[in-house]
Amino acid sequence: MEDFVKLSRSTVEKFLNCQRCCVLDKKYQIKPPSLPFTLNIAVDNLCKNEFDYYRNKQEPHPLFIKNGIDAVPFKHKNLKDWRNNFIGIRYKCSKYKYDFGGAVDDVWQKKNGELIVVDVKSTSKNNFDWHETFEKFDYAKGYKRQLEMYQWLFRKNGFKVADEAYLLYFNGLKNEKFFNNQLKFEPYFVKLECSTSWVETKILETVNILRSNQLPMASLKCDYCNYLKKRWQLSKIK
Ligand code: SF4
Repeated sequence: MEDFVKLSRSTVEKFLNCQRCCVLDKKYQIKPPSLPFTLNIAVDNLCKNEFDYYRNKQEPHPLFIKNGIDAVPFKHKNLKDWRNNFIGIRYKCSKYKYDFGGAVDDVWQKKNGELIVVDVKSTSKNNFDWHETFEKFDYAKGYKRQLEMYQWLFRKNGFKVADEAYLLYFNGLKNEKFFNNQLKFEPYFVKLECSTSWVETKILETVNILRSNQLPMASLKCDYCNYLKKRWQLSKIK
């Protein structure tokens, strides 16, 4: 009998960016080196703590009121698991034998009961312009896909989910006159109209490639692979 393939939304995102990297990472545990984003994690945690305060009171966060968002942080017994990177919110498909999940930053609830999925991001730019970032950079399109995969998971778990989702961006101000051991941020709510229509197809394609014996080709555009190839070519000569 075929085993379940357990995968996360970041595996699917890797598949969409480079199938070879996805297979190397998930199947062979060969991962590109990466640094922990400790400052971003600190912002995420502080923000979650603040939302939890309003969750307990079932009141909107002042930023919601300021930005016209008619919702309160969603109270649910599984929230701790949904936020846990090692658990997350999951959907197990017995037909195609996969177990897909992802860890959310936060979930809010509208008056009509629909859930709004939220992801917290931090950056530091002189002029924060989401539309320009979205047009220019693939990673920004990946942020939207991230929210869509979470929305799909919540729907599969039986929740009513709003089509809109939010990125809550904290932009670090780097041109202040004095540091005073304080990093100041400007918050930006980026509202995204999302669609989950693509999600299941891409999960299945990822599962299929992980089940197969294929090792897909590397992307010719990838700076990291080109760097490695050049290193190998040089070490063969010298
Ligand atoms: S091209 Fe190479 S390094 Fe780049 S994402 Fe793909 S496998 Fe990874």
